[in-house]
Amino acid sequence: MSDAGQVPEESTRDLLAGSRDVECFLCGRRDEDVKFYDPPFRVVRCKHCGMTYVNPRLSSERLHEMYQEEYWASDRAKEFGYASYLAERENYERTYRRRSTTIDRYRSEPGRVLDVGCAAGFFLSVMKAKGWQTSGVEISKPMVDYARETLGLDDVRHGDLTTLDIDEGGYDVVTMWDVIEHLEDPRAHLEAARRGLRDDGLLVLETQDVSSRFARLMRRKWQHYKHEEHLYHFEPATLGRLLDEMGFDVLENTPRHGGKYVSLNFVVERVGRIHPIMTTLASPLRLLGNRALYINLQDEMIVVAKKR
Ligand SMILES: [Zn+2]
Repeated sequence: MSDAGQVPEESTRDLLAGSRDVECFLCGRRDEDVKFYDPPFRVVRCKHCGMTYVNPRLSSERLHEMYQEEYWASDRAKEFGYASYLAERENYERTYRRRSTTIDRYRSEPGRVLDVGCAAGFFLSVMKAKGWQTSGVEISKPMVDYARETLGLDDVRHGDLTTLDIDEGGYDVVTMWDVIEHLEDPRAHLEAARRGLRDDGLLVLETQDVSSRFARLMRRKWQHYKHEEHLYHFEPATLGRLLDEMGFDVLENTPRHGGKYVSLNFVVERVGRIHPIMTTLASPLRLLGNRALYINLQDEMIVVAKKR
């Protein structure tokens, strides 16, 4: 890894073309404590409001490009994207069936749900099976095609929530799974989500918790530090402040059901982040093939918030 000040390699220069340092998105100040450097990036915490974020930020064009084809079948998934998103379909569906019980506690009857950043549509297909009327929005064209063609979800639109025409006041629930940390402008998306909700509609949102015990234990090796794509690292206080500002009352924020069903192959790949030797040590697990296990590191927050 190059030291700060050294001339960056060509691939790094390409990556950084058009990137820029940004101020704290939550309070607008520019007064950061550096948590750690991972050149060319640094993870910083705002001295005023406690928001954790990444600097510099890649250009909007680069961020948009990133989520097209290669993100979903990435050959460097430790830093960026998924090794094989579609191959994990069964595990995602099991994960979402479990997460959807959070919604069942608030809505005993099926209604209309809009999933923002719905990817291949795995969550929506779970909700459809439960009798919900489903809509999705996704910026990645290959994922939209998969959701429509393979899962038969007819109302999945290609584009950005903030520029699409959505059915205002039409939804009982708007969901955002692993999405807000990727967005350049979370406020604009939350505002659009709010417009889509009926009065007293629910926003159900999941994102990683940088103040969790596991994040603090792992420090810079935490699996959610993926600087190209995870622009923000919320914690209950910063997320609560943002939601309040955007006109939502938080009803609950819990790591329960924040876990994931994962294949052993996925586990082997991810432990390599801690140290490359871990991949070798854990590789006999691959022999168990596609067997899945449920892992909850208690480092994700699932927030249920009501439109005020
Ligand atoms: Zn701040």
